[in-house]
Amino acid sequence: MLQAVIFDYDGTMAPTMERQHRWFEKYWYHPVNRDRVKGKDFPYKDFKSFMKMYQEKMAPAENVQDIYDFLNLDCNMNDFNHPVWPAYKAFSTENPAILYPGMKEAIKEIWESGQLTRNYSRNRRLRLGVNTSNSWKIVFGDLEKNGVSKYFDSYVSKEILAQYHGNGNAGSIKKPSKISLALAMELLDSEGEYTIHIGDTLNDLASSNKVMRLNPAHLETLINIGVTWGYSGEGEGKEKARSVLERGVELSGDRRAYFNYVVDSPNQLVEIVKKHLKE
Ligand SMILES: [Mg+2]
Repeated sequence: MLQAVIFDYDGTMAPTMERQHRWFEKYWYHPVNRDRVKGKDFPYKDFKSFMKMYQEKMAPAENVQDIYDFLNLDCNMNDFNHPVWPAYKAFSTENPAILYPGMKEAIKEIWESGQLTRNYSRNRRLRLGVNTSNSWKIVFGDLEKNGVSKYFDSYVSKEILAQYHGNGNAGSIKKPSKISLALAMELLDSEGEYTIHIGDTLNDLASSNKVMRLNPAHLETLINIGVTWGYSGEGEGKEKARSVLERGVELSGDRRAYFNYVVDSPNQLVEIVKKHLKE
């Protein structure tokens, strides 16, 4: 009997990178950057090139300040009196964070389908969790605005993972580290074989294979769903994403891991959850 469903956030629940693209393009032309950009056009007009740059520059430390610095834009994220903040606030108001089409409905239906029934073998409702290397402050705000925060039982986020960083090395445990999945299952009190993990990248898949909690002889592999609307297509669409996700991922020890399902729309997630609730 299915016990829990864990959702990745960026690229699975919400098109966050598309929003960052719009923001950085807008901020490029902000008066505070006039002398810095010297009348040049924003160099990452197309989403694909922006995404490539963003992923590369974010990879070492998961720090958005690095993107501002790389683009030579005026920003000090730690200084709340800096003009970047009112500019970002205005942008956020004009561009509210939205979930992918159908995602809100899917989350709600998954939550509803997990309630108690006459079937005595389901003696605990289905639990939902968020597993993200994004900041909880941002993710919670988005979930709340979209009316879905009430469906989740727990989360693992950048702030939580920061507690495990190796002496300040933020990159040491980001995905595909399995620590976040071990923590997520601990919080949801679920077992790997009865836990669905939904993500949009091969790193999500790798991180939920053979997860160790405390016992090295007991490794848990989750039921993995890959979604094609996220970032594995590298800006080239669902078909490209599907071909990437279906190839699976090489793991240490000559093993290869594959998704149990690769899906093209959020309502397919509901079907899969319902199927596993019956098993
Ligand atoms: Mg993702």
